Amino acid sequence: MSAAALEVFRARARRVGEQHAAEVDALDETAGARRALSLVAEANLAKLCVPEQWGGAHLDGLASRKDVSCRALCAARYELARHSAMLDVMLVMQGLGSYAISIAGSDPLRASMLPRVARGELIAAFALTEPGAGSDLGMVATRAERVGERWKLNGAKTFISNAGVADFYTVLARTSGAPGDGGKGSLTMFCVPANTPGVSAQRFEVTSPHPIGDVLFDGAELDDGQRLGEVGSGLDTALAVLGRFRVSVAAAANGFARRALEESIAHLKSRTQFGKPLAANQGLGFDLAEMDMRLRAAELLVDEAAAAVDRGERAVLEVARAKLFATENASYVCDRAVQHFGGLGVKRGVLVERLWRDVRALRIYEGASEIQKLLMARELTR
Ligand SMILES: Cc1cc2nc3c(=O)[nH]c(=O)nc-3n(C[C@H](O)[C@H](O)[C@H](O)COP(=O)(O)OP(=O)(O)OC[C@H]3O[C@@H](n4cnc5c(N)ncnc54)[C@H](O)[C@@H]3O)c2cc1C
Repeated sequence: MSAAALEVFRARARRVGEQHAAEVDALDETAGARRALSLVAEANLAKLCVPEQWGGAHLDGLASRKDVSCRALCAARYELARHSAMLDVMLVMQGLGSYAISIAGSDPLRASMLPRVARGELIAAFALTEPGAGSDLGMVATRAERVGERWKLNGAKTFISNAGVADFYTVLARTSGAPGDGGKGSLTMFCVPANTPGVSAQRFEVTSPHPIGDVLFDGAELDDGQRLGEVGSGLDTALAVLGRFRVSVAAAANGFARRALEESIAHLKSRTQFGKPLAANQGLGFDLAEMDMRLRAAELLVDEAAAAVDRGERAVLEVARAKLFATENASYVCDRAVQHFGGLGVKRGVLVERLWRDVRALRIYEGASEIQKLLMARELTR
């Protein structure tokens, strides 16, 4: 039964991509982000980002009612990424931004937020990174101080997807110790509504359409009910969020790359130079073979890792391997596609040019490639 459910989610995502990518991509970033989320919500895909127990999709055995299914999310991201980076990012941010509430929030907080996230009524964001804390979250300096029954939040986050469009941020903040202490036991996560006095956002642009920016906290006051989990449990919660969603980055990378390969094949077959189609040149055909082989390997690595996560296994090695290989490979595949298009490959408005930009950040966020290698090396020598 679960395989059938997976196909239903995959088909829905494909339909949204085929029918609406052009419309979303023609809008400016803020309008595009909002429209993309409303489309994935209307197709009941945002429900994949919330456990069934709290208003999420019925998973038909893909994962427990208390969790989100990595395989379902991967299937949806693959199809959305084949069509539009904005559709893809607006789907996954609903999960990345709300999963800390799913696993660590109080029941009243879950009940008030998660069904609305699943329906696309609230836009979620996940705020870990700071100017001084990227790969090393032990450097987090944003501080939450207890003041009576409440908390006061001060600090700055950067590179936060959905900055300025989000309705709430799940924020990793320091509740004891000092930056550089490793973070274990001294960080705590909070759910911070974007309209809290003292919270502001400043957007900047990155290479691919993606709502992103800085989020600043200037004495923002929070109820203790907005705390996610025990004081000091924040690093574990943040890593659990990344552990559940990271493999879906690899699935999106494969979706972008699959589209680039499809574009390459069509172009090499239709473009004639020196009296024959480009595809008739053995070197270019070998290129397609290499792209296809690597991409299929990346797809299988994602299947393996996502299934292991859904079974509740630790799967650190499987996930890191899939993320590392798929994202690096997507850059390779998209770059070859640009080469196959010649000058058209770098012309704005030609799809492979956009795909080449779309895939670049995936090697950096949710653990850069070097960090995946560190995780793999640690697992292999454990
Ligand atoms: C498009 C985009 C969206 C993002 N969205 C979010 C978001 O929603 N929320 C959020 O919190 N963050 C987000 N980020 C931030 C992202 O998670 C960080 O950029 C990432 O963790 C890397 O941190 P950094 O940029 O500070 O790089 P650094 O940590 O400074 O690393 C720089 C380089 O050094 C390498 N490096 C670092 N440490 C080591 C080491 N020990 N050994 C070998 N190499 C090392 C890294 O791999 C990288 O190549 C986003 C980033 C981008 C680009």
